[in-house]
Amino acid sequence: MHTDIESNIKRISATLPKEVTLIAVSKYHPIESIEVAYRAGQRHFGESKAQDLRIKQQALPHDIAWHFIGHLQSNKIKYIAPFVHLIHSIDSLRLLQEVDKHACRQQRRIGCLLQIHIACEETKFGFSPDECMAMLEGEEWRKLENVEIRGLMCMASNTNDTAQIEREFNDVKSLFDRIRNRFFADKDSFNILSAGMSEDYQIAIKAGSTHIRIGSDIFGEPQKS
Ligand SMILES: *Cc1c(COP(=O)(O)O)cnc(C)c1O
Repeated sequence: MHTDIESNIKRISATLPKEVTLIAVSKYHPIESIEVAYRAGQRHFGESKAQDLRIKQQALPHDIAWHFIGHLQSNKIKYIAPFVHLIHSIDSLRLLQEVDKHACRQQRRIGCLLQIHIACEETKFGFSPDECMAMLEGEEWRKLENVEIRGLMCMASNTNDTAQIEREFNDVKSLFDRIRNRFFADKDSFNILSAGMSEDYQIAIKAGSTHIRIGSDIFGEPQKS
């Protein structure tokens, strides 16, 4: 079935409050599909595999802001460090330190989000709220000069129970506010809450999301090989 990428982007964009950034999640979709989205004016794209992201970045216009949203292994950081706009999936101090090293080599400062595990599924990565607080209290992160913690990312449970999804997003929003007040009160740059996907982004925006990550609602279901 033909997916009208351009009208999907226009339809979704038209409903968004202007302070919300739409990230088009292009993982598993070909470069041609990304080009269609680009011509429709889309500039923020998300990918979940470091090597795929590298290939796409090289093939596409350089004014695209690339977001890394998948689980990041330390040995893959090198593929994305030269250009990545924002890494959404920091789930340990160790990973943050590794990103800092690569950013330093590239003479860059890379924006990072701390991924919070809030969903009921076991398989989703991220800090628990307590682990995240403990990491920040550790103060080690303050030594890192080439990464900047810009906020939090989360994925809600994969469920039809909208009350539960709402509760999860609201919990992350209160964690976000607590962390900002406690550790980043002097930094305006801690201002990103990345929450919401195709099925739940309206709920996420109500809860205070600033960045939504939409894949299938724009590009259709990926042709996974
Ligand atoms: C795939 C993915 C998305 C997009 O999911 P859709 O349901 O297709 O919109 C968003 N965030 C993350 C972390 C993803 O892996």
